[in-house]
Amino acid sequence: KAKARFRGQCILFETTDSKEMENATAIERELREGNLEQELFLLFQPQYSPGEARVVSFEALARWQNPRLGLVSPDAFIRVAERSGFIQKVTAILFRKGLAELKKWPDDISLSFNLSARDISDQTFVLSLLGQIMEEQVSPSRLEFEITETAVMSDLTTSSTVLDRLRSRGCRVALDDFGSGYSSFEYLDQLPLDKVKIDRSFIRKVPHSITSREIVAAIIALCSKLNLRCVLEGVETQEEMAVLAPLQPDLIQGYLFGRPMSGKDAGQLIADQQQASTDPTELKAQSA
Ligand code: C2E
Ligand code: MG
Ligand code: MG
Ligand code: MG
Repeated sequence: KAKARFRGQCILFETTDSKEMENATAIERELREGNLEQELFLLFQPQYSPGEARVVSFEALARWQNPRLGLVSPDAFIRVAERSGFIQKVTAILFRKGLAELKKWPDDISLSFNLSARDISDQTFVLSLLGQIMEEQVSPSRLEFEITETAVMSDLTTSSTVLDRLRSRGCRVALDDFGSGYSSFEYLDQLPLDKVKIDRSFIRKVPHSITSREIVAAIIALCSKLNLRCVLEGVETQEEMAVLAPLQPDLIQGYLFGRPMSGKDAGQLIADQQQASTDPTELKAQSA
């Protein structure tokens, strides 16, 4: 914990700390007493393939609309849910909702789903997710699980086993927020992965920093050598795109190609995209 040099700062820290604790307590109470089944939902953010010139998948992003807390972001509640033992319940509810949405989409669209540390430290739980996939009769190849470096950090051996299991059933595994944590390269070496998502912190700096550009280029080249697909996270501007497109990433995800949206809007985006690719007048308009 940070030690403040001045009295004023110290008070400021304490207020922030106790505010956060208050929030965490309220969140934990609502996790226990709220109607999670009804209140938790997903937004879907498009992942665009420059090679195919279309959206090929969506990342499912958790949201929580609670009558007393309002709209809670995952950064606020996932950690509390992990600490207080509610995470698997949260994950299971969200996953079922994600599968229901995925089933409405065409077969060539897939879904990326975030798993937390506690989720993947429990083999039985991961098996239950695979069970859900079977029950819903969705092809496992349409599902990808995103894990963060911090999520696997605690136990690399168990994580590897669990991830192997997911992959042997045909699901894919992506390492999220690559480059933002510690010993990233060790994970590339030790974990069974299909994909790497390069953290937004590099992307943001790319237009103004040659160093960041070179780092992104090097990670993309490394992924290609290791047979991993790579995703650029958080591309927001044409300026960033102009610098990044020549590096030929496999996928791009960011506000430039779409914000996280409702399942209904995601469905509409897919329909529009299919329409555009089959309607000759649209094609003409695009190439003109
Ligand atoms: P993440 O998995 O790295 O997801 C990407 C985050 O970046 C999302 O924030 C997304 O809305 C945001 N983002 C995407 N494109 C842009 C962009 O162009 N600019 C900016 N500024 N931001 C962008 P979100 O939805 O708030 O999620 C935050 C984190 O919470 C996620 O980071 C993920 O680690 C975690 N999370 C979200 N949903 C779940 C879930 O269902 N389960 C678990 N365990 N974690 C989740
Ligand atoms: Mg993610
Ligand atoms: Mg990420
Ligand atoms: Mg993140």
